[in-house]
Amino acid sequence: MAHLSGTDRSQLLLLPEAVDDYVGPENPVRFIEAFVNGLDLSAAGFVRVDPKTTGRPGYDPADLLKLYMYGYLNRVRSSRRLEAEAHRNVEVIWLLRHLRPDFRTIAAFRQANRSAFKQVFREFVIVCRQLDLFGRELLAVDGTRIKAVNNPARNFTRRALSIIIQKTDEKLADYMKRLDESDAEDDKVGSNRGDSGGVDNKLAEKIAAIQGKRDRHKALLEELDRTGEEQISLTDPDSRRMAPGAKVSVGYNIQLAVDAKHKLIAAQEVSNDVGDRGLLASTVKVAMEALGAKQIDAVADRGYFSIDDIEACEQAGITAYVAKPVGGRTVGKGFFSKEEFRYDPANNVYVCPSGASLPVVFHGLARGKEMIYYQNRAACKGCTLRSQCTNTASRQVSRRPNEAVIDRMTERLAAHPDILDKRRECVEHPFGTIKQWMYQGAFLMRRLESVRGEFSLTALAYNIKRAITIVGVAGLIAALST
Ligand code: SF4
Repeated sequence: MAHLSGTDRSQLLLLPEAVDDYVGPENPVRFIEAFVNGLDLSAAGFVRVDPKTTGRPGYDPADLLKLYMYGYLNRVRSSRRLEAEAHRNVEVIWLLRHLRPDFRTIAAFRQANRSAFKQVFREFVIVCRQLDLFGRELLAVDGTRIKAVNNPARNFTRRALSIIIQKTDEKLADYMKRLDESDAEDDKVGSNRGDSGGVDNKLAEKIAAIQGKRDRHKALLEELDRTGEEQISLTDPDSRRMAPGAKVSVGYNIQLAVDAKHKLIAAQEVSNDVGDRGLLASTVKVAMEALGAKQIDAVADRGYFSIDDIEACEQAGITAYVAKPVGGRTVGKGFFSKEEFRYDPANNVYVCPSGASLPVVFHGLARGKEMIYYQNRAACKGCTLRSQCTNTASRQVSRRPNEAVIDRMTERLAAHPDILDKRRECVEHPFGTIKQWMYQGAFLMRRLESVRGEFSLTALAYNIKRAITIVGVAGLIAALST
């Protein structure tokens, strides 16, 4: 028996097939088409929405937005590859109605409309809200780092520049010394300068090269002094060297607020902050606005632990659950942790493990922050537990004036011990999908504003993919007409 042979390519068909025949009712391109056609692109901030009255007609921003949405949903992000898809991919041919923009047009569209993509992401969040896909009860917040278009060798911290300048100074001093020694040797033996001139010339060239390197790095250090920044990136000036231990060396910090019900992204923010501390309240507030929630629970890992930020959460109607960092210098030395001291709010004292009361001994500014210190020198003096508590004469315990927010949060965490595991379940899904399935390990664009636009498309693609899994293409299209 022969194998299946297909249809002869030169066969003429009596009833020609339409491109529409190749795109089934559950094909995501049908949702992209309906969704973009329903958007108010001018209000979203897209440029050239109204065609020019003169000159050669341009592409409709709606068509180019559809192309990008298709691309990000299908792991095609580069403008050259999107151009290729417009020629050979029947889904793109259907979506663009045989339009074939070249890669320059495609890239220029993304660059010109980078700020508008975030609004498209928000519009899809509204669609998901209409479908009741957000629980609006618990948000899991987490951050990841994505590589910037900036080689780590082209990023300099203030410290690195100081070390480089110091080393070049040492090298210069060494070469200068050798040059002087060479001259002195020549004078002593009365040698012909022509014999040693080659060596001196080589040294002079090396000195000039080192001097040039030193001047370049000195100029970068001066630039840091002028801007007050701690580091400088030469290819993408907005990218930053991330905190030590991060897998990505130079990149951007991505913050996601993921709704626990279906692991959909409610808010996404891109910044060049090196760490996550201080970003909880701001990220959750954006999510609350998108979800129309006045009150919400938010859970995050210990990287977000900041008394001021958790207080800001309380003030914004966010019930925060943030894992408390363990350890610290005192615990590292094997002494009682601060958690083993109980705060007594009625008397404003700490009760230590031996049962002694530690009253306030200082309330004022310390290292730029308002601090309160508690200590009981007399009790420590004769304490039998002192070897487990301190290696000084007396143990001191510090407290911030707003630390009551942490006491309340500690009680909440004790009442919901499983909530931190829930955080991991929620955020791993979008991060895993974005990094592994969507191959978004690095940005293609430079500068913070462009990168924000790029990630808005990524987060939008993730949400569309997730929503299609939950309600299907037909369900999503039906939601657009409600
Ligand atoms: S050393 Fe001082 S603070 Fe520590 S347990 Fe003894 S009395 Fe309390």
